[in-house]
Amino acid sequence: MGITNGILAASFDAARDAGAEKICEIRISIGELTEIQEFALQFAFEALTPGTMAEGATLAVAHIPATSHCNECGLDYTHDRFEMLCPECGAFNVTPLTGREMRIDSIETPDEDGTCPEPTAKPADWLLPTDNPEV
Ligand SMILES: [Zn+2]
Repeated sequence: MGITNGILAASFDAARDAGAEKICEIRISIGELTEIQEFALQFAFEALTPGTMAEGATLAVAHIPATSHCNECGLDYTHDRFEMLCPECGAFNVTPLTGREMRIDSIETPDEDGTCPEPTAKPADWLLPTDNPEV
């Protein structure tokens, strides 16, 4: 619940700063190496939002794959939590690039007439911002 509370608190602040009274959708990115489980976030989101400005809102989660840069052969590659060695030369000398992110990407608020825009397509269909290594 702690992570979800943090996401909600930051989203409420941002929405209030924007003069909004309601939140339609919160879009976040989670790196595959954070071990944050989406179902746990969704569960907490459902439990914590009733009665708040995010009641009925959608939590869209983009999963950012883990990537690293090999300092021996220069290869940038995608890997999972357990196989971090360079697949090209087997080096241990690698620099993590992405996969440890946990950030709020955007917050959708109602249109001027008070209706919410169409929610993002199913989170699983969301394209990943893999060209953005910001951590
Ligand atoms: Zn290599």
